Amino acid sequence: MTHLLAHTSVQQLKGVGAALAEKLAKLGLTTLQDMMFHLPRDYEDRSHISPICTAHAGATLMLEGEVLAADVAKGKRQSLAVRFSDGTGSITLRFYHFYPQQKEHFQRGTRMRIFGEIRLGASGMEMYHPEYKTVQLDEPLPDANLTAIYPTTEGLTQVRLRQLMTEALSHVSAQTLPELMPNYANSRLNLLNALHIVHNPPSNSNRELLLSGIHPAQQRLAFEELTAHQISLMQRRQHIQSIPSPTLKADCPLAQQLLAKLPFQLTNAQQRVWGEIAADLTLNKPMLRLIQGDVGSGKTIVAALAACHAVASNWQVALMAPTEILAEQHFVNFSAWFNDLGLPVAWLSGKQGVKDRNASLAKIESGEAKIVVGTHALFQESVQFARLGLVIIDEQHRFGVDQRLALRQKGEKLGLSPHQLVMTATPIPRTLAMSAYGDLDTSVIDELPPNRTPVTTVALPNARRAEVIERVRANCLTGKQAYWVCTLIEESEQLEAQAAEAIYEELQKELPELKLGLVHGKLKANDKQAIMKAFKLGELDLLVATTVIEVGVDVPNSSLMIIENAERLGLAQLHQLRGRVGRGSTVSYCVLMYQSPLSHMGQERLAIMRATTDGFVIAEKDLEIRGPGEVLGTKQTGLVTFKVANLSRDQQLLKTAQQLAKTMQKDQPQQAQALVHRWLPNAPKYVAV
Ligand code: ADP
Ligand code: MG
Repeated sequence: MTHLLAHTSVQQLKGVGAALAEKLAKLGLTTLQDMMFHLPRDYEDRSHISPICTAHAGATLMLEGEVLAADVAKGKRQSLAVRFSDGTGSITLRFYHFYPQQKEHFQRGTRMRIFGEIRLGASGMEMYHPEYKTVQLDEPLPDANLTAIYPTTEGLTQVRLRQLMTEALSHVSAQTLPELMPNYANSRLNLLNALHIVHNPPSNSNRELLLSGIHPAQQRLAFEELTAHQISLMQRRQHIQSIPSPTLKADCPLAQQLLAKLPFQLTNAQQRVWGEIAADLTLNKPMLRLIQGDVGSGKTIVAALAACHAVASNWQVALMAPTEILAEQHFVNFSAWFNDLGLPVAWLSGKQGVKDRNASLAKIESGEAKIVVGTHALFQESVQFARLGLVIIDEQHRFGVDQRLALRQKGEKLGLSPHQLVMTATPIPRTLAMSAYGDLDTSVIDELPPNRTPVTTVALPNARRAEVIERVRANCLTGKQAYWVCTLIEESEQLEAQAAEAIYEELQKELPELKLGLVHGKLKANDKQAIMKAFKLGELDLLVATTVIEVGVDVPNSSLMIIENAERLGLAQLHQLRGRVGRGSTVSYCVLMYQSPLSHMGQERLAIMRATTDGFVIAEKDLEIRGPGEVLGTKQTGLVTFKVANLSRDQQLLKTAQQLAKTMQKDQPQQAQALVHRWLPNAPKYVAV
């Protein structure tokens, strides 16, 4: 074959017809080039035996030990269950498909080697349908190479996929799959060699390195992948900035008026970030800026100042937040700031009544509403802006890139693209930010307003609940307020609401002298608003809530936060929740309640929360413990999942990848485009500018 693999269909492989091609397409594999960049997610290692005590779910391992017992388990589905031990631990081998005599293979005391994937099953750690064979004591291990394990799909076995890969690999040459990375063509680690090593590790390759993803062949591919990803982000940015935007004045009397009304002075960090924004706004290409600032660092006022620049030149501003509660809070703040200056603020939410909604829509369309605050409802088609000049999005990581683009398009009626400001309180490690928001410039508010006292955090087991309740009583009887956050693992708002109601009732009984309120996701917007308002006014002592209060709620008189089942939450979420207290000048406390016994990871997490209140440190740890997908919520961000790169492990490659991306985009645009196509075949294609 001498054709480019990028143009060769998988149907060219032996035995691949329409049906199999369809399965491959499910994995995103339509050409032989796609096949080559479908990289192993792991390797089978049959070269050594693992002790059972080191096994964990998801690992594919070889074990050696003795059969303890074999039984046909009745249950929902009959299965042959074999108890198996190696002296360090035991495990169940489970066979759902078995023949009656099969049980005879597993005589008590038989010595066996087992190979398979560990899962958590009915009896704890189990292997389903492992390979097994009887061995003698001290039988030598076969001299086996590492075997690739690929991401696959239903109806396509590893064995078949591996055969196809082997065949596809035989078609790879410098002609059919050209090297795109500068400086690699003549190196030992050219694309061909790297792909051979990674798909089909030769027996002399370094296992340890391969298994941990840091073999030079893998690192070379990871570097290429990161470069491709950076190029695609740059293309997106160029595309957005190819449409001009309104130019706004840098000095802004309206902003000065707003500042004069505030009871505080901007911190240096706020001042600096505002300056960066103002400079962006004077250009005739859209600002694309991310403000990162820890909870309570005062991002809202900076957003309001940015809004002043747009409004002063008669442009409209849309401010969007991911939850009703947070959007309402912004609406209240912005109304207080802007109504006084003679600038009405409009409100738009999905839960609003039809009449109110239509009234808002009309004001937005006529241009009468200068500032519009709302939720996702702002994305909807019925929303037409007269002159949208600036889009502000709070808590960016909860919105997808697509949504950000949709709102931008609302401003394009006049042939202009609105400026974009996004804010996040989830401090994202720098490397992650470079990948997730690589198309945005970043400003960091790295200073908290003065007179904040750091929150003291303690962790207590559920067994000490009575003490925690006493603590709430004592706290609230001094006139301070408190939060009690109920969490559930279930994804259902319904169940979460029920659980919160039960706890609310319990606490009402226990704390008759206090006034309690309850908020959860199932309440009507009006009811929720009324309760939040009462809490803010100090009419309620204790607010029982689900994690809906996670972001934005700002009540400086609250000095105690109780979080139930803290061990189940991610660090970033705990940090957000804890950020609801410590907003005033009194000492505040956060009590993390947990169910004992805590897992090792659980202990580690709670220890970090006790040790630091610095959101950036917490974010770095979160990334280490949970990995980037979890930290950012891959689905929500539209963040690509990498094939070989790992943002936590390969951080040190990012900087160079970014530089190379810039050079390639400038000097070798066609090669750059081919690289994106190779690694991200589904990335949107932007018209060249
Ligand atoms: P976040 O960055 O978490 O969104 P906010 O904008 O809600 O933080 O600000 C938190 C609180 O700090 C608000 O009550 C706000 O009015 C107040 N604040 C903001 N900037 C300052 C400042 N420079 N000095 C004192 N208080 C400030
Ligand atoms: Mg905020």
